[in-house]
Amino acid sequence: MLNKYVIGIDVGGTHTRIGQISASGEVLKNQMLKTADYGNAATFLEHLIGVIKTMISDDMEGFLGIGMGAPSVNEQNQTITYAANLNWDGSLDIIQALSQAFLVPVKLTNDANLLVLAHQHFDDTLLSDFFVVTLGTGVGAGICCNGSLLKGKEGFAGELGHVIVNERGRACSCGRQGCLECYVSANGIIRTVISLIAQFNSYKGSLLDIPMADLNAKMITELALSGDEIAKRALTLTGQMLGQALANMVALFNPQLIYLAGGVTHAGELLLAPTRQFFHQHLLNVYPDIITIEKSKFDDHEGAILGASVLIWQLNEG
Ligand SMILES: [Zn+2]
Repeated sequence: MLNKYVIGIDVGGTHTRIGQISASGEVLKNQMLKTADYGNAATFLEHLIGVIKTMISDDMEGFLGIGMGAPSVNEQNQTITYAANLNWDGSLDIIQALSQAFLVPVKLTNDANLLVLAHQHFDDTLLSDFFVVTLGTGVGAGICCNGSLLKGKEGFAGELGHVIVNERGRACSCGRQGCLECYVSANGIIRTVISLIAQFNSYKGSLLDIPMADLNAKMITELALSGDEIAKRALTLTGQMLGQALANMVALFNPQLIYLAGGVTHAGELLLAPTRQFFHQHLLNVYPDIITIEKSKFDDHEGAILGASVLIWQLNEG
């Protein structure tokens, strides 16, 4: 019997994950490359091709194609336009390189879309209208509207992280000020903790023992769980900003449900409770209270390669 499979790839600034995915959404094999270890795109591609070759062994018959997610993908041209985190120049045609190496279809999408694709294809709930908001190093939203993934003209729809929430606010990596990402990303939470420490000089807790350069979102969550006042306050403030932003998004897209994903969501209820509270407080009253905010059932990394594989499963439907 012929077992069909797809190679799903998630190219990230730090890690690139590669998986062999079955039609039922099982990750049969997976591997990781450290994206940052490769000085240029050509060497990276060479290694990537090597990994795919070992993964498919000699089973070319079942191999349907390669689906891939990356930051800053221009959907129209199927190129990676400008990705600050990757040492790639614009001239690299990754699609052509991979299709020449394997003679199968290769499709590329923005990484913000991967979890929407995973939910659309591998989740039983079959919702027609939902978002997946990813909170990690960056903040992005994948939007499913009327049953379709919303892409926009160039494919850059859903840049929720760069919606300005405070015009005199924190400096953002995009060159502007006060973007949502400066508050609700992993780094945004660290910035909140640092400003809270400066405000409350009566604070004597463990955060003072950690060099600020070593501080990360995971430590803040652990301290909040152990009762640290500043860590708890930082997560509450983060949830409040996020809840308000999600209420604004509902006014634009009228979803049934909102999923949250990414490392920051490991804070669990410490983040989700204030997010839900502020969300419902700011929700326009024409929307039903039943719109819920849930953690995505897909693990960030596995969900991304599953979603990437959907680009190829979709080609083979119908
Ligand atoms: Zn920005």
